[in-house]
Amino acid sequence: MADTGCRKVPKRAEIVIVGAGFAGMYLLKLMRDNGFDAVALEQGGGVGGTWYWNRYPGARCDIESMQYSHKYLPELEQQWNWSERYAAQPEILAYANEIADRLEIRSNICFERQVTAAHYDEAAQEWEINCSTGETVCARFYIMATGCLSVPNQVDFPGMASFTGPTYQTGQWPHVPVDFTGQRVAVIGTGSSAIQSIPQIAKQAAELTIFQRTPNYAVPAKNRALDEAERAEIKAQYANLRREQAESFANIAGGLPLGKAADTTYEEQWDEYQRRWDEGGILFNGAFRDAMFDKTANEIAAKFVRAKIRETVNDPATANLLCPTNTLGAKRLCVDIDYFETYNLPHVHLVDISKNPLSITPEGLKMDGKTYEADAIVYATGFDAMTGALLRANICGRKGKPLHDHWAEGPRTYLGLAINGFPNLFTVTGPASPSVFTNMLPTIEQHCEWITDCICTLREKGQVEIEAELDAENSWMEHNRKVGEAHLRSSSASWYTGENIKGKPVGFMPYIGGFPKYRDKCEEVVSNGYHGFRTI
Ligand code: NAP
Repeated sequence: MADTGCRKVPKRAEIVIVGAGFAGMYLLKLMRDNGFDAVALEQGGGVGGTWYWNRYPGARCDIESMQYSHKYLPELEQQWNWSERYAAQPEILAYANEIADRLEIRSNICFERQVTAAHYDEAAQEWEINCSTGETVCARFYIMATGCLSVPNQVDFPGMASFTGPTYQTGQWPHVPVDFTGQRVAVIGTGSSAIQSIPQIAKQAAELTIFQRTPNYAVPAKNRALDEAERAEIKAQYANLRREQAESFANIAGGLPLGKAADTTYEEQWDEYQRRWDEGGILFNGAFRDAMFDKTANEIAAKFVRAKIRETVNDPATANLLCPTNTLGAKRLCVDIDYFETYNLPHVHLVDISKNPLSITPEGLKMDGKTYEADAIVYATGFDAMTGALLRANICGRKGKPLHDHWAEGPRTYLGLAINGFPNLFTVTGPASPSVFTNMLPTIEQHCEWITDCICTLREKGQVEIEAELDAENSWMEHNRKVGEAHLRSSSASWYTGENIKGKPVGFMPYIGGFPKYRDKCEEVVSNGYHGFRTI
């Protein structure tokens, strides 16, 4: 059922925000605090964005909950009691709803509205935005808070429509409980979503078969309940933790690198990886400063994880199939709870689909002449990341130019915040911003505050239009390209490069220069009078 929001989209607002996830909600608050009339259009029936949609079994954040939370609500920071080291989806969604309640912003959110198109009216210097409901709203500023991983990758296996059982997509999971008890379940994909859901589905299913194209590195979460004393200790010095986050590469406090792998012996590296493995979590990847730049250093981390997989999985052939050979961390490192252990269960099977085409039949899945009967199929096949939601919104800028055309060879932005030819349009965590390489909640805050300050500055100066200049966009993209090229993260096909989606232009999309450098650049642009922007 739809959450209570505003019933009708207004004909006019000063600011239209798309999305009522954490970014959309914070923007609504900031805009209201600054006296703007803002409305959010949200395709879901409630707030929470990614956590509203990703309800698959085992969905959980891979950043620690005390860090994956907002600092702009200091009272909530003190009052909210995260129950586990890594919060599960229902708790994060409850947190999002608590924010909406405290801010009393639902009346400014129109739920169940998908934006279908937006045109910039150059004469009026405003956007006209159309919704799936047929409603239209005009606004001077249009802000896309649509998230980086919000459009599922719709795979296209031959015969897909013929399958007679239910199918599920991890990123669009039903809002009612799904019970796999006694069923033969097939999961396609072995990325983070699959790695989290497989151990949970295995608890119910009679048979679980996983169809893997590429294995992934995963490290244990070592999740546990948080007790009152631990929470209290963090809360007592939250400001310090937030400062430490802000000065770290990924907006995550702790886990500082030991040094350079090149200056360390093999044994010392192995010991450090063991220490981080025992500690659990994604900071495994930050053990050495050069591990994401130097293939030799990276291979030691990769070898360590492969050894752990072989230690854990009893059947050597299955273990072998589960061992990745690509660069560790080029695809996002997965954080798991009992993922590899699950393959030791007698009713769990792994099928390698990397060499033969897979098709779907009414009874199940077929490959190389063999049928794998299934009662249900789970597509854990990922997302049209970073650009999917922006392009789907059919945005047309100056002279009616579609964003599709401007991005024909891949996304281009200035700071991931603005796009040449698209005045008064802002993107929160857009392509070429650090976004997915960071702890999203504090990173979102920086973007929302920057955009709000920018719009306030325009108002103070009596200006009505701002647009990224082409030169500024070009040089920011060139800087992105250079920084990305040097980093091993750009070395594998992944959703970072767009290669997971057929026909998508290939290019490394997020900014990998780190959060502090990026924030400093954003601040420098402001202190130089919005350098790289043209204002009227
Ligand atoms: P993903 O990492 O892109 O994984 C998709 C999986 O589906 C891959 O194993 C991929 O294989 C497979 N696949 C895709 N198309 C296929 C096809 N046509 N045929 C066969 N296999 C196919 O997607 P995800 O697991 O949803 O994760 C995406 C991102 O969301 C993560 O990297 C992470 O940033 C975020 N996430 C975070 C959490 C968390 O906080 N814990 C949880 C879930 C997701 P290939 O590798 O061969 O392409």
